Amino acid sequence: MSEVAIKVAVRVRPFNRRELEQNQRSIIRVLDNQSLIFDPDEDEDEFFFHGTKQTHRDITKRVKKKLTMDFDSVFNEDSVNQDIFENCMKPLVCSVMGGYNCSVFVYGATGAGKTYTMLGSDEIAGITFLTMQELFRQINEYSEERRFDIGISYLEVYNENVMNLLTKTGPLKLREDANGVVVSGLVLKQIHSAEELIELLHLGNRNRTQHPTDANAESSRSHAIFQVHIRMVDKKTSQKRTVKLSMIDLAGSERAQSTKCKGLRFKEGANINKSLLALGNCINKLADGCKHIPYRDSNLTRILKDSLGGNCQTLMIANVSPSSMTFEDTYNTLKYASRAKKI
Ligand code: ADP
Ligand code: MG
Repeated sequence: MSEVAIKVAVRVRPFNRRELEQNQRSIIRVLDNQSLIFDPDEDEDEFFFHGTKQTHRDITKRVKKKLTMDFDSVFNEDSVNQDIFENCMKPLVCSVMGGYNCSVFVYGATGAGKTYTMLGSDEIAGITFLTMQELFRQINEYSEERRFDIGISYLEVYNENVMNLLTKTGPLKLREDANGVVVSGLVLKQIHSAEELIELLHLGNRNRTQHPTDANAESSRSHAIFQVHIRMVDKKTSQKRTVKLSMIDLAGSERAQSTKCKGLRFKEGANINKSLLALGNCINKLADGCKHIPYRDSNLTRILKDSLGGNCQTLMIANVSPSSMTFEDTYNTLKYASRAKKI
């Protein structure tokens, strides 16, 4: 048994309009708040048809996988960002205040709901905002005993280049020092409330690299790394402590070839796979209790070295679509998620 704690949550997003119009079959049945069946029998329950006419009957009569899978949390189509915050993020904020580095990843194919979970929409707050609100609430509670300093950074890893999303500069260099990996020239932005953060996140998102591909016009091939650096000083003892909360919106996990990528786009895909692969490898090694973790294999894992494993708490939120159209993506995401759960 390793001492590393990785919790894995799965979130199933609702069918979108296009999927509903095409009357697609649901390939996920959520059983309860910790388990689901992937690829259940079609005629087990008419509930799956979410409509009367089934235009996409599986005429191949393929044998259904009917895989029952368990996770730390499972959120069905009706869940809202607030649910994920309450169940998964609140405990993490407590860990942060207790001195642990914590990180949250949203993993999944493009269109599965990663950014929606992290950042929400114009009307609905994402877990980033809700978590920061909770962090400031707790900071307020501790303010008699401790002094706090909050600095944030918002980085993008795109094509293995590290960019600052909060100020436009060229790619940043990573260098190793005694305390770990440092992003050269990165200046943290001080903030004093969750509201102050919102504008920064908007600014940062406008700076995110977005390229339309055949598969999805909103496809994002970049990893966005939001980090909160919290310095706490005990007012009585003057003891100092610095902890980090990292929230990472990973690039789409779908395969490069599935989007018919060529040339530059293909290179991006290859590099994304490199970072995701490196992350997966690190997670596997942590699960196996290995001493050597290959953090150095990608810039994503280098930046997150002190936020994965060791004295760290990690949450992986696997986002999936319930539609039969994304069968392979959903299957791959669930497999990745159940591997992470072994830790
Ligand atoms: P990703 O970041 O994984 O590519 P998005 O978060 O952009 O995917 O989601 C794709 C689309 O689905 C967006 O239009 C988003 O608003 C919508 N969506 C995703 N998850 C939900 C949800 N839980 N409820 C409602 N709409 C959602
Ligand atoms: Mg996204």
